[in-house]
Amino acid sequence: MALERTFSIIKPDATKRNLTGAIVKKFEDAGLRVVASKRIHLTMAQAGEFYAVHKERPFYGELCEFMASAPIVAQVLEGENAIAKNREVMGATNPADAEAGTIRAEFAQSVGENSVHGSDAPETAAIEIAYFFSGLELVG
Ligand code: UDP
Ligand code: MG
Repeated sequence: MALERTFSIIKPDATKRNLTGAIVKKFEDAGLRVVASKRIHLTMAQAGEFYAVHKERPFYGELCEFMASAPIVAQVLEGENAIAKNREVMGATNPADAEAGTIRAEFAQSVGENSVHGSDAPETAAIEIAYFFSGLELVG
């Protein structure tokens, strides 16, 4: 299996509670390498564009407000089967359903404020990486 890249966000609930390092440790312990990383504060418009796929969902407005409420850490993770592996390390969207030891089981506060985002497929990973990073910023 070839190396794969996925896009990750450490969300505002986690950056506010100083959990960036603890979450990156989970990625690295799972064999995922951080090949790009930046801490930024999204505007409402940027959060809205990033989550445009969820525009029709009832939680969209609240989700955008949350994502623009404090800094995030945007990252590109690289490894074997990185997209699926990252989803595994993240745990289920709702922390109540997340397996023990996953990021969301340990750190998430609610289904909305659930500490991390991770791409769900190769197509979305490519789009999300390109939204946040230029090729020059990806250092494998
Ligand atoms: N979300 C929410 N309420 C819901 C479902 C999702 O607030 O009922 C938020 C949550 O922050 C989630 C994000 O919307 O991470 C994107 O939802 P998705 O279904 O793509 O979950 P994910 O891929 O993040 O596990
Ligand atoms: Mg998703």
